[in-house]
Amino acid sequence: MIRPVVFITGDIHHPPDLIKRLLYGELGIPEDYELRAGLEYVKVLHEYNVPCTLFITGKLVDTFSETVKSLISSYDNVEIGAHTYYAFRGLLYGYTLFIPVYRKLFGTPYGPKHLIHYDVLKTVKAFLKLGVRPIAWRTHGYEENDYLYSLLAKLGFKIISDCRSERFKVFKRNNILHVCINMPVDDNLPNMSPSERASWYEKYIKLLNIKVRQEKALVLQLHPVNMALDNFDFLLKIIKVLLKVNSLFHRLSFLIDL
Ligand SMILES: [Zn+2]
Repeated sequence: MIRPVVFITGDIHHPPDLIKRLLYGELGIPEDYELRAGLEYVKVLHEYNVPCTLFITGKLVDTFSETVKSLISSYDNVEIGAHTYYAFRGLLYGYTLFIPVYRKLFGTPYGPKHLIHYDVLKTVKAFLKLGVRPIAWRTHGYEENDYLYSLLAKLGFKIISDCRSERFKVFKRNNILHVCINMPVDDNLPNMSPSERASWYEKYIKLLNIKVRQEKALVLQLHPVNMALDNFDFLLKIIKVLLKVNSLFHRLSFLIDL
């Protein structure tokens, strides 16, 4: 049997805006909650020698630089990618209310070109302050945009994981390698009831068992904060399925050198 190649990826965000935190009654949640989940996630994967690529928002890097530093340096299995600066949060996005307006006016939820430019450069600057020059990017909100992608190419980004696809798919566009996520995304887990979540987990594992035998490569998107919902049990189940078929785990940048 051919060994499947597997890429574990996840996104880590800065906390939602104060207004949203108030609305959702989330004020009690520590501001670095997602980042702490990220540290646990990397630790769990490290125990099984599994590498991962984590996309982090620039604002999180600026706010919790010391913790981000320890996320990068504590374990050698993590590769850091950039995940926009604001992730649609904050005043410039009208606390996310401007998204439909931007889409209508500019054809993209990221807003006018100068705002995209501002966000991307601010992200790169935040990482550079840490001494990190990211080459991998995932946009928060996956609507593609040529201006964004050509700007990222100019800044030296080599790999983008924004697209989603049934089958494993990579392609070159704007001089950057695009790698599609080809397993279901876990975005909705926090909004599910425990029983909905249990059946989602079950379906996912079933599909994983099928796809791992079908696909040349699997790109998983598993948010650390969502994996923390069941204390990383589901993540462990995934790893065990993948180890059983002798998967070869890599960071996304592995694809650039091929
Ligand atoms: Zn995101």
